[in-house]
Amino acid sequence: MPGYRGRLAPSPTGLMHLGHARTFWMAQTRATAASGALVMRNEDLDPSRARSEFTAAMLEDLHWLGLRWEEGPDCGGPFGPYSQSLRMDFYRAAFAQLQRSGCVYPCNCSRQDVLRALQAPHAGEDEPVYPGTCRHNPLPDPLDNGKSRINWRFRVPEGRSICFTDGRLGHQTSIAGVDFGDFVVWRHDDSPSYQLAVVVDDAAMQISEVVRGADLLRSTARQWLLYEALGFVPPAFYHCELLTDSEGVRLAKRHDALSLRTLRHQGFTPEDVLKLAFNSPEGQQGNSISV
Ligand code: GLU
Repeated sequence: MPGYRGRLAPSPTGLMHLGHARTFWMAQTRATAASGALVMRNEDLDPSRARSEFTAAMLEDLHWLGLRWEEGPDCGGPFGPYSQSLRMDFYRAAFAQLQRSGCVYPCNCSRQDVLRALQAPHAGEDEPVYPGTCRHNPLPDPLDNGKSRINWRFRVPEGRSICFTDGRLGHQTSIAGVDFGDFVVWRHDDSPSYQLAVVVDDAAMQISEVVRGADLLRSTARQWLLYEALGFVPPAFYHCELLTDSEGVRLAKRHDALSLRTLRHQGFTPEDVLKLAFNSPEGQQGNSISV
């Protein structure tokens, strides 16, 4: 059994900003403290938003900041380059397993959450609880061979409590069907959702602890159900406090002024950037930032 294995899982859909600096620095700190390894994974599943120039920029900017990883796009490793767009066979196999075990159903609703399923739902983006409209849809004709353009949802066990102990926040409970509903695992354009891809990868890469932003707590609960359905043991989780702008809005890639690249070009050193990213102690209110 490998020891501690953490991961950095940025999406190349824009420039890395102070929020990434903070979460990824925390991931590195925890991996170092446990004498563990850190994996770099390029989460480039969304063809409409992922760009190779952003992949290059994110690797460079994170390296400039002082982050180091043992496995990833530059390092080869047992799974080759860790770019999600190159790992479709793994996702397809997991989806086939979910289909065989009957925990997914076809859904022809055209809702926002289907459109957005390729991305991690960050603060303010989480989907409403799905009302179950298509829960009793018949399975598509096997002779159709996947030609009909349908989405597939995971059927959550309604009322089930998903409990885990977060490394920072302590005991966490979410109720399936109340806090979140049936969610998309496979999209009509023949691609996996963020939720499925991230579970398949974290399991395949033997990640022992996932460090991510606290806005993904609900997604962690969804993913817990996928771990179980696929027969994987869930890793430990550590949800970092979110960094917000001066108006309290979570930092996003649109906050260009707070991108690592802009700060670096303005003469900030990696130490300055880390000081900004950790401007107030963890656990206190008001982790807001303005530059
Ligand atoms: N690529 C996702 C993001 O950048 C990763 C989220 C996660 O940690 O699972 O939001």
